[in-house]
Amino acid sequence: MTVHGGTETPLPWLRNCWVLFSRARMAGRLPHALLITGLPGVGKRHLVASMARSLLCAQPDEHGLACGHCRECGLLRAGTHPDFLEIGPDAESKSNEIRVDAIRGLARSDSLTAHRGGHKVVVLDPAQNMNASAANSLLKTLEEPSPETLLLLVCEQPGRLPATVRSRCQELKVPVPSESEALEWLRRHTDFEDVQTLLRLAHGAPLKALAFAKDGRLSQRALAFAGFTEVTGGIRDPIAEAAAWNEYEPTILLEWLSGWISDLLRLASGHPAPALINPDKVEDLRNMARDLDPTAGHRYLQQVLDARASQPSAANRLLLYESLLVRWVRMSRLRTPNPG
Ligand SMILES: [Zn+2]
Repeated sequence: MTVHGGTETPLPWLRNCWVLFSRARMAGRLPHALLITGLPGVGKRHLVASMARSLLCAQPDEHGLACGHCRECGLLRAGTHPDFLEIGPDAESKSNEIRVDAIRGLARSDSLTAHRGGHKVVVLDPAQNMNASAANSLLKTLEEPSPETLLLLVCEQPGRLPATVRSRCQELKVPVPSESEALEWLRRHTDFEDVQTLLRLAHGAPLKALAFAKDGRLSQRALAFAGFTEVTGGIRDPIAEAAAWNEYEPTILLEWLSGWISDLLRLASGHPAPALINPDKVEDLRNMARDLDPTAGHRYLQQVLDARASQPSAANRLLLYESLLVRWVRMSRLRTPNPG
């Protein structure tokens, strides 16, 4: 996270969260630890950065937003504010864990005391990456909070935090905005034409959708989907397609696949106007859904979701894709009358 000072324009769908935070602050009711949760791409880090700037600024405006030009804002922008601390995974470590040493440093009393007389802000991100001893160490800090310190825990999977840590934080859920609000915002930030597909693929999270528009991922998805369609139609070898899939980022690929199967099931359910994750592919999906057996389809979707949750290692991925595609072809053959 980069905490720049500067004139603030909060993301429109974060306004309610901001008002809650500002009111609590004005009333002197800020907790010692806030757990900021929400889907990837809804703006948790934007919100946390605004909070940090606001708490450290010497003269926030009437909305509680940082002024951007006082000395405190300048120090923060330069990355040298002594009362701002960010804790994340050890850059050297492959495990991506937040380790106990990082938290122990925090527990030392001097690091919890504000040097410049205002608040002390500590951001822990991503909080679910704390290993067990780091979480234990944090618990001690949470049990003996220092009055001027606010801990901001950013977390996409709060279920992975120990209950003891969660129960000592106040949770602030960053919502997914309404589709119309998100689309309006996206249209102002990208020239990409089909913003609705971007947004659906991002499960409604606008920042994730915007990232998709920028990183060329939609053309990869188009290729993978074309391959999937051809495999389903029996004109492409599933083993060859599995090798092509192995070139993509696995969590993304399995997310696409689960999205296609979910849409096929929605279309097969006979609902007149199902809300699809892939509205741009509706014609191809409708063709494939025509004789999908819903029971087998649901079982297959579960297998894809299990595969995604298991985070397959590089060594197992190709085998996994082969097995998923071969199973899919078998299902397709079963439902085709008079095969070959
Ligand atoms: Zn300021």
